[in-house]
Amino acid sequence: MFRLLLAAVLWAPTAASLYAADYCETNDFADVIQRVDAYAQQQGGDRVLLVADIDNTLLAMDQDLGSDAWFEWQSFLLANEPGSDKLVADDFDGLLEAQGLLFTLGHMHPPQPEIPALVKQAQGLGVKTLLLTSRGPEFRPQTERELTRNGYAFGPTVLPMPGMPTGVFYPYDAQRPESVGLPRAYAEACGLGDPRPVSFGSGVLMTSGQHKGAMLRIALHQSDADIAAVVYVDDHGRHVSRIDDALEDLGMPGAVFHYQREDTNVDRFKYGDKAPVTEAWRRLSKAIEAAFPQAAPVGGGAVEAVPAEARRPVAAGH
Ligand SMILES: [Mg+2]
Repeated sequence: MFRLLLAAVLWAPTAASLYAADYCETNDFADVIQRVDAYAQQQGGDRVLLVADIDNTLLAMDQDLGSDAWFEWQSFLLANEPGSDKLVADDFDGLLEAQGLLFTLGHMHPPQPEIPALVKQAQGLGVKTLLLTSRGPEFRPQTERELTRNGYAFGPTVLPMPGMPTGVFYPYDAQRPESVGLPRAYAEACGLGDPRPVSFGSGVLMTSGQHKGAMLRIALHQSDADIAAVVYVDDHGRHVSRIDDALEDLGMPGAVFHYQREDTNVDRFKYGDKAPVTEAWRRLSKAIEAAFPQAAPVGGGAVEAVPAEARRPVAAGH
């Protein structure tokens, strides 16, 4: 009962109705699907779009090594402590190479075991779907493998986007963002620079860490579906806010969910001892070097306390 009341409070539209979408925080994915269901009853299922993030939303890594929190930590070290002996790579390309290896070797699971069934339930209502991940196109095989292994199937319900290329492509032209539905003022407010390659297929748009609000606007621009409401779910507040802003700018009704189920795990890693992951990576890279002595070390092999200038150059990553 308390949860129902809380949900009612969280879902109450703001009094001023300044925002097109409701901003909600939850640690239960069922709240997201209940909202999808409510819109489907109102608008008809095929006019509702469910957009979801992947990492720490639909899937989380089974171990810390290679997790979203691990990647953020490594990115932070690269930017702020480039001499750290905890770094697995010399540069960002090397980090992506290491991440790709860990995605290949590791498995993932839904943060709540019931999420695949909940998603299937929403898909059964006829709603359209789109996955928006910050992962880049280079990780598509591992990403699709883990989605499938966990019982997700987003291809059949994907938002129809006849104008959207498949394969790898640049999502916008920095000189003419309006040609893909990004008004110049919006593009400038988002700070969009030169585009990075994305890929679209099997219901997944892999955005290479680009602005998710802009990516969703491009997707809606390329779609011929008559979407009346969007429900968005992501574990990162900045992405939720950006989608919220994009929906507001479009005047599109909907709800955005900041999904916090994995926050405890993320904080445990963030503030915890990093020695276990550092040791795990050291053992893995040693094993690979022993098995493939001719190959360049993954990520540049920066697992020892070697000065950056003494490390071997990294082969082009992903
Ligand atoms: Mg995420």
